[in-house]
Amino acid sequence: MRLRNIRGSKEMIAASDYVVQEPETHKGTWGQLFGNEQPVQIEVGMGKGRFIMDMARLHPDRNFVGIEMYDSVLLRAVQKREQLEEDLPNLYFIRMDARNLPDVFEKGEVDKIYLNFSDPWPKERHAKRRLTSCQFLERYDKILAPEGTVEFKTDNRPLFEFSLEEVKEAGWVLDASTFDLHHDAKLMEGNVMTEYEEKFSRAGNPIHKMIIHR
Ligand code: SAM
Repeated sequence: MRLRNIRGSKEMIAASDYVVQEPETHKGTWGQLFGNEQPVQIEVGMGKGRFIMDMARLHPDRNFVGIEMYDSVLLRAVQKREQLEEDLPNLYFIRMDARNLPDVFEKGEVDKIYLNFSDPWPKERHAKRRLTSCQFLERYDKILAPEGTVEFKTDNRPLFEFSLEEVKEAGWVLDASTFDLHHDAKLMEGNVMTEYEEKFSRAGNPIHKMIIHR
């Protein structure tokens, strides 16, 4: 998701209590920031944040961090959150490139990583930028707990097939996968729709999902 640059978005994000500034300073101590030791789950590439806000509301016994690379997109999430009636003390946002995740979380500090409708980067020379490339899986391995998992949803079949290959190549384990999530009763249990998921499934695209661990 790329929105036109919104003037002042950097400053508004820097002033928001919902956004963790200098997230590297919390490496290894995220529990202190949340004020409890609940499991920490992150969404990489949260866009406008609908999924992570719904997750935080539904699961007050977990801590959530929504990660987004672009100021203008993150600002939309911040504004949406400001309009919520509830407080959601178990949710923070970070503006960062996910390439730097190991600078922000300690090994074992993250219980689950959600990747929802990640950018496909269709050109071969950009394959390393795909959030399910071997390079990214290596970064996730540096922050995940021993039993930690990655959950990935997309409607993009080539990206999904690429991801299945990368999982194998990186020596990760495929716990579950489907090419048609919305007709898979087991994997649909507790499914929380993302903004893109709603848009693409309404257009008739099947949604693919995999759950993997190291
Ligand atoms: N997850 C949302 C959903 O399902 O509705 C948004 C999907 S949108 C297509 C993907 C988002 O990932 C974009 O907002 C993009 O800026 C963000 N993104 C892509 N690469 C990223 C990276 N390396 N680090 C952080 N965010 C990234």
